[in-house]
Amino acid sequence: MVSKAGKNQSRVFYMPKYRRIMKGISVLVIRWNGSEYRYSKPCKYCSEYMKILGIKKIHYSLDDGSIESHKMKNFTSEHLSISQRGAQKT
Ligand SMILES: [Zn+2]
Repeated sequence: MVSKAGKNQSRVFYMPKYRRIMKGISVLVIRWNGSEYRYSKPCKYCSEYMKILGIKKIHYSLDDGSIESHKMKNFTSEHLSISQRGAQKT
C-alpha cells in the first residue's frame, strides 16, 4: 500500500505545473477533533512532496494547541500516521 502511494506521488512530483503554483507558499496543517487540537505533523511522504513542490514554510498543530513552525528546507519528518504504520506491517 505504501509503495502504491509512493508511485502515485512520484507521478505528481515531477509535474512542473504544481511546483509553479506551490513554490514559495506556506502550509498550515491543523487537526481538530471537535473539542481540541491534535498533533498534525506531516508524514515523511508529504514532507518530501512539499519540499519538491518548493513549499517555503510548514506550520502544524500539536496536542497542546500550540503551533510549531519550520522552514521547509530545515524540516524533516519520520512521522507516519496510524494507517501508514498499519500498512507497513503487512
Ligand atoms: Zn502524509
